[in-house]
Amino acid sequence: MTAKSEYQHSDSLIENALNGIYQCNEDGAFLSVNAALARMLGYASSDELGSEQFQTLLASAKEADIVTHGLRSSSNLVGMEVTLKPKEGPMVQAVLNGRWVERDGTGNDPYHEGILTDISHLKRQEEELLHLATHDPLTGLHNRREFNAIFERHLSRVRRYGDAGALLWMDLDGFKQINDSLGHNAGDELLSSIAHRMKATVRDSDVVARLGGDEFAVLYPNVDEAQAKLAAGRLLDAIRKHSVVIEGQILRSTSSMGVVLFPEHGNSASELFLKADMAMYRAKASGRNRITMYSYSDEKVENPESRIDWLRVIREALENDSFVLYAQPILDLKTNRIVRYEILLRLRDQAGNLIPPGAFLDVAEQFGLSGDIDRWVLRKVMDVLGDASLGDDLSFAVNLSPRSLTDPELLAMVTGKESLTIIGPVRLVLEITESAAIYNIHVAKDFLRTLRTQGYEFALDDFGKGFSSFYQLKNLDVDYLKIDGSFVRNLSKDPVDKHLVTAMVTLAGSLGKQTIAEFVEDEETLEILRSIGVDCAQGFYIGRPSPLDGILEDLRNA
Ligand code: C2E
Ligand code: CA
Ligand code: CA
Repeated sequence: MTAKSEYQHSDSLIENALNGIYQCNEDGAFLSVNAALARMLGYASSDELGSEQFQTLLASAKEADIVTHGLRSSSNLVGMEVTLKPKEGPMVQAVLNGRWVERDGTGNDPYHEGILTDISHLKRQEEELLHLATHDPLTGLHNRREFNAIFERHLSRVRRYGDAGALLWMDLDGFKQINDSLGHNAGDELLSSIAHRMKATVRDSDVVARLGGDEFAVLYPNVDEAQAKLAAGRLLDAIRKHSVVIEGQILRSTSSMGVVLFPEHGNSASELFLKADMAMYRAKASGRNRITMYSYSDEKVENPESRIDWLRVIREALENDSFVLYAQPILDLKTNRIVRYEILLRLRDQAGNLIPPGAFLDVAEQFGLSGDIDRWVLRKVMDVLGDASLGDDLSFAVNLSPRSLTDPELLAMVTGKESLTIIGPVRLVLEITESAAIYNIHVAKDFLRTLRTQGYEFALDDFGKGFSSFYQLKNLDVDYLKIDGSFVRNLSKDPVDKHLVTAMVTLAGSLGKQTIAEFVEDEETLEILRSIGVDCAQGFYIGRPSPLDGILEDLRNA
């Protein structure tokens, strides 16, 4: 212990104490410091520390003033949190219990003394706890609760000072399939790498949060409409281009985004969240991988406002038969005849609008209603086709969602007596997506085997788009490969697509399967497909989806 003259302590308690103990005069020159304080601040000895000034140990001159003033203002023991500057390294957080001492009651030669307790580790723990409570552990982004709080605070500033801003609501496209087919670990890795990319794409002042699952939100604090669109466009692009390799597979995803402006579209958080969610659902419904700006005109349409509303609408549609079946022709390229129709589902809302399946199938899947939808579709198809005398060379294709392959009710339905009526005159092809099949490959295998003996045929839908095409082919006995539209759409411009489609055709041929190309939108593409040797084609150029009733009527009259 360093000490000067009469301030000397003989007490070895102080010398050996774990807390820092000091005395110093009014100007800040130390009168005594113990070894613990020297250690706390990284000095070799109390002698070395003793030659410093009290003020220079505090984080700033301002803090030194506050501390000295605080001590002086009372004759009692004062407790306060202080930040100390060690000889080197990070600042030390400490609690100071100190007092001002008027030595002889005359106010002359006063000094102060105190005990300093290092609480840096407690502070760090506190910060970690706070971080855990406010951040998403997987991505490190703000969590929903914290985002709500930040957004509320920001909105109250907006109300007071009248600035503007934008809120973006986002959902990854098809994330559920990735999770289901490749497992949660792969899904988690994709999520956290996309979160990093998002963080790197926005400005420091923008707030990015993960709301849960594959839903994210971004607060753009000070932007107008044009800037918000630009920023959202950058984010959409960055996510689309982002890829990550997980267990040897390249994973990527696109996103659907809804954007609202404030105060233009509302000034309460709940209203803006709802509207951003609505806009996002419109982005999904109109084809995904896009940004939709909320607009007032949306509200005039009977648009469900949230997932819960969608859930209600789907349930009602199932009860009231307000789903509508459309169908799209499939052309045989060898015979140039329509050989099949794919049944496509639409939902009629109360205003009479037809809603495409992209808008509600995700919600149905999420709430376990996709099995009910598939059974509804199959029953309807059996009803309308059962008595149809439409010729033997025509078949109909029905889409099945992942869950249906493990649905005993559906199996009972398609293998039961009532199903036999359709097997006679009309053939049915069941379309399953790659991701659907991998949901549970062994169940899918059995499902196919059972139904095949009943006369059903199978198509592997969206072939090439998934991450496991070859694995599917090895395990599933399907009749058709439906080459995913993403390989077909730009066939006339992209030589890589042409090579890939050629390879798929060769592969299918050697396995004894037929190929169907979807998304054929022009003559040129059709001719390329023909020259490559694709068996069948489907797309807007050949025919858009139209009501099944009308198609059946035409077929009967033909
Ligand atoms: P999918 O099975 O790949 O069906 C093809 C989708 O592409 C249809 O969209 C169709 O309208 C659209 N399409 C067809 N030709 C073209 C074209 O030339 N260009 C473009 N851009 N698009 C084209 P839709 O009807 O909106 O269906 C979307 C998806 O919803 C379907 O994709 C299918 O996976 C699912 N789906 C449709 N109906 C049902 C159903 O009854 N049950 C189940 N589980 N899923 C269904
Ligand atoms: Ca399909
Ligand atoms: Ca498809």
